[in-house]
Amino acid sequence: MYTERVMDHFNNPRNMGEVEDYNAEGTVGNAKCGDIMRMTMRIEDGVIEDVKFKTFGCGAAVATSSIATEMVKGKTVEEALKLTNSAVVEALEGLPPQKIHCSVLAEEAVRAAIENWRERAGEE
Ligand SMILES: [Zn+2]
Repeated sequence: MYTERVMDHFNNPRNMGEVEDYNAEGTVGNAKCGDIMRMTMRIEDGVIEDVKFKTFGCGAAVATSSIATEMVKGKTVEEALKLTNSAVVEALEGLPPQKIHCSVLAEEAVRAAIENWRERAGEE
């Protein structure tokens, strides 16, 4: 049902936890499997220096958040905003159709965190 890549990221999630001194935070959820994904980032000069996630949810949600953090780390916010759920699914070498919505969550979490960072920057 799941590719080796999915199982690898599920069993050994990368960048799990919360970034110390984060200046961007996004929490998203889906009603379908009750997944909740929280992403924190440290953004300096428009570059995502550090990113971590906490996901309460199914294995596919954990795997997609893990790989999504790897895909946006070290990137500019503009590059990170181009991350799509299909790119995440491709990087995981596929997901079962009923789990595609979990990869959408990763894309949404990245966007929510960057939006939050922009709001904070506007307030300063
Ligand atoms: Zn899910």
